[in-house]
Amino acid sequence: MTGLGTAAVHGDDGLVPGAAVAPPIVQSATFSAESDERFTEIATESRGSAFYTRYGNPNHAQVAAVVAALEGAETGLVTASGMGAISTVALALLRAGDHVVVQRSTYGGTTSLATGLLPRFGVAYTQVDQTDTAAFAGALRPQTRLVLVETPSNPLLELTDLAAVVELAHAAGALVVVDNTFATPVNQRPTAVGADLVWHSGTKFLGGHSDVSAGVVVGSAALIERVWRTAIVTGATLGPVDAWLLLRGIRTLPLRVERHNANALALARALEGHPAVARVRYPGLASHPQHALARRQMTGFGGVLGVELRGGRAGATALLGGLRLAKRAASLGSVSTLVVHPRSMWAGIVDAGQLAAAGISDGLVRVSTGIEDTADLVADFLAAADLAVDVG
Ligand SMILES: *Cc1c(COP(=O)(O)O)cnc(C)c1O
Repeated sequence: MTGLGTAAVHGDDGLVPGAAVAPPIVQSATFSAESDERFTEIATESRGSAFYTRYGNPNHAQVAAVVAALEGAETGLVTASGMGAISTVALALLRAGDHVVVQRSTYGGTTSLATGLLPRFGVAYTQVDQTDTAAFAGALRPQTRLVLVETPSNPLLELTDLAAVVELAHAAGALVVVDNTFATPVNQRPTAVGADLVWHSGTKFLGGHSDVSAGVVVGSAALIERVWRTAIVTGATLGPVDAWLLLRGIRTLPLRVERHNANALALARALEGHPAVARVRYPGLASHPQHALARRQMTGFGGVLGVELRGGRAGATALLGGLRLAKRAASLGSVSTLVVHPRSMWAGIVDAGQLAAAGISDGLVRVSTGIEDTADLVADFLAAADLAVDVG
């Protein structure tokens, strides 16, 4: 096993056709074969790159190999979005009568999948407080097939004890599927403690430049084969250009994440104790209730933090209005710092009661630090926070 920087650059060695140093974009929906016999071969090859792009493409294979290398997994598969990855995993591995365990604090799309879509196909669910490992134990049933984990979670930065949950789930005969979008393999390797599948919104840190929507899932060849068989039916196919852009982003992932980590920690420390701020949620702060767990299972604490303003909604508005470098935008994991007021972003999608029950307060601002200079970013946020003092 090489280091992560080397894996990001060389994880696809041998999969790049020709002599070009940068992989060519194979913008072809279909591929020719010299004989009918050869055609039968390529059409049945699992995740092959020479039949039809929905089945596989050289640009897909390169990304999958690199992410598998970064995550320490056997192999992988790319999809058109992160949701394309998790919905394909669910449809591949679940059937009517099964049960899934899902966290109460998790990406909204994952909540919708588990609590909205899957029940229509006869799959039951239980939502748990991820900070309470015993809650996972209590939720597991003989019918439980999948435990859907996300740590740190979006947007509350709550942690799941990966090793403990994997042990419980495996003892109950369930597979553990980890959303590693927030941490990235640079900060956290779920396969090292036995997670069965790891997936990403490639749209976020992996791509890293807010210019591509993509998803990736990695795991054992046997599981990925099952996911692929479903993926060719669900058809969430990533375009070759987008696969190329994703790979281009991943090449610098270890470098970028170092800066994201440093910026988020500096911002968290600078804002904690500011008179406008009630609380900073960041696993790297000693004040995070699960800081000890963060130190145990993460090597860096990620680029995302939550800032809760004393002034509630008005305080959040003042902070957001005062920022010069940060852009108000959905998504995260970009070279540019992105900020969002989760309560407003999800107001039209999830009802206010559910948002409050999930712990998303009116004063919460989610900050995804970019790779700007740390001092500039800290100065921008401190100036904006000054505007939020005594507001609300
Ligand atoms: C954005 C996000 C997703 C969904 O990914 P898409 O690429 O938008 O489909 C899933 N999980 C987390 C943690 C995310 O932030």
